[in-house]
Amino acid sequence: MANTKFIFVTGGVTSSLGKGILAASLAKLIQAGGYSVTIQKLDPYLNIDPGTLNPYEHGECYVTDDGAETDLDLGHYERFLGVPTSQANNVTTGRIYQAVINKERKGDYLGKTVQIVPHITDEIKRSIMLLGKKGDYDVVVTEIGGVVGDMESLPYIEAVRQLKWELGRDALCIHLTLVPYLSAAGELKTKPTQHSVKTLLENGVQPDILVLRTEHPLNDSIKHKVALFCNVERNAVFQSMDEPSIYGVPLMLHKQNLDEVVLTKLRLPIKKDPDLSKWTQQLETLYNLKKKVKIAVVGKYVELPDAYKSISEAIVHAGLANECKPEVEWIHSEHIDQTNVEEILKDKQGILVAPGFGHRGIEGKIIAIKYAREHNIPFLGICLGMQCAVVEFARNVMGLSKANSTEFSNTPDPVIDIMEQQKTITNMGHTMRLGSYPCNITDTDSNAYRAYGTQLINERHRHRYEFNNDYLEAMAEKGMTATGRNPESDLVEIVEIKNHKWFVGVQFHPEYKSRFIEPHPLFIAFIKAALE
Ligand code: GLN
Repeated sequence: MANTKFIFVTGGVTSSLGKGILAASLAKLIQAGGYSVTIQKLDPYLNIDPGTLNPYEHGECYVTDDGAETDLDLGHYERFLGVPTSQANNVTTGRIYQAVINKERKGDYLGKTVQIVPHITDEIKRSIMLLGKKGDYDVVVTEIGGVVGDMESLPYIEAVRQLKWELGRDALCIHLTLVPYLSAAGELKTKPTQHSVKTLLENGVQPDILVLRTEHPLNDSIKHKVALFCNVERNAVFQSMDEPSIYGVPLMLHKQNLDEVVLTKLRLPIKKDPDLSKWTQQLETLYNLKKKVKIAVVGKYVELPDAYKSISEAIVHAGLANECKPEVEWIHSEHIDQTNVEEILKDKQGILVAPGFGHRGIEGKIIAIKYAREHNIPFLGICLGMQCAVVEFARNVMGLSKANSTEFSNTPDPVIDIMEQQKTITNMGHTMRLGSYPCNITDTDSNAYRAYGTQLINERHRHRYEFNNDYLEAMAEKGMTATGRNPESDLVEIVEIKNHKWFVGVQFHPEYKSRFIEPHPLFIAFIKAALE
């Protein structure tokens, strides 16, 4: 079998150029060319993982099947490739240092002085090579977080330098930079790109391919100039203009032959027609949607679109399956009260209440849920959204006016309570109920069953609190039933209100498993109900 090939994606000039989308798009093209591929993100911060980060800091925390709390770029990787990622796909500086320090404490370094070079860089190299080791992948794409020149990135760039040297033509580096347009001068400027490549060169890394992010098309002479000044072949300079959708990026790059150039450089045979037909078709659908559907998403991080990245993408995907364009209004739960709820929600065809942590904004969520329930508006509650739906039902239908989650108060009616295993936990990092668990849809006359079309499902979790089974029967008598349970622990995973048009709350996070060409069944059903 041929060696695994390694592609490093670095970024220059500024952050937010879309390295994650570039890595995902390139991997998609390589996959379409008949190769197995995975993508890895190296994050140069000291948190062990983003699980303890406020979404305002770093956007959504994406959870993998194996329960890793990871960077939101891993969500893009899965949405593009349709292949699950794992803990090994996201490594932070914190994790690298932790591994090295643990080894030092164990005496593994045999008395040597432990240093950034070689010990930290070796650990980085080990984390990269690990994905290639098992022989599962022909190609590993590694995205280096941050911007070249940042102090934090240096050990990563050094690891890339060493690996490029050791792996020879089995590795290459793609550098993504910006070519800004100065409107006063009416000119596109290549100097920042030249400087950024120079910084890479100072660290011993010669990029093999440049992708230039630009708001205006680059003519041949600009590409030629960049190639010449950066020691890159002319056919290895690509432009990346804004696409109407991120899902258009793979095709935009394919039209410029990025995949062909990459595969040639890695000496991998090129398939004549990479299989992009489904992707292209889905994109056509996306660009030609006419029908609209108005969806409200109620959450407390709505000012930052990245905080609910997987949810917003899952809604787009589900729109495709229903041939409609969801118009999402992001509503801050703290801005909802009894006096304005009607005004805010009256024109919405579906209401989704988002996951979250902590007390802030809870009452607004509960008011929104009451509105959805009483006005027969399709409702999807995810994790905290489901828990709030249970609290709302207990208070307003069962008459337990003080019902709450013990996350928020010392209530006499803890309809949502901390899980037994969580009671003794003191550390916050990586201690929730995380990752994929099976759920048995016990009730085949349910919206969940109609959506999934099967009884045994697997979904990903991230929570500490759960539905309190002491209230199960009383709640069912009043009309809220548990339609899905964990087969081993009996934890309630899905609740529904049967005499409602479509009212589903799920303890898990379906959004993590929605893909561009494989929208999630629950989101499809939610949007379908909203359209009806
Ligand atoms: N805060 C709730 C819990 O820990 C819900 C978590 C979530 O929405 N992901 O159970």
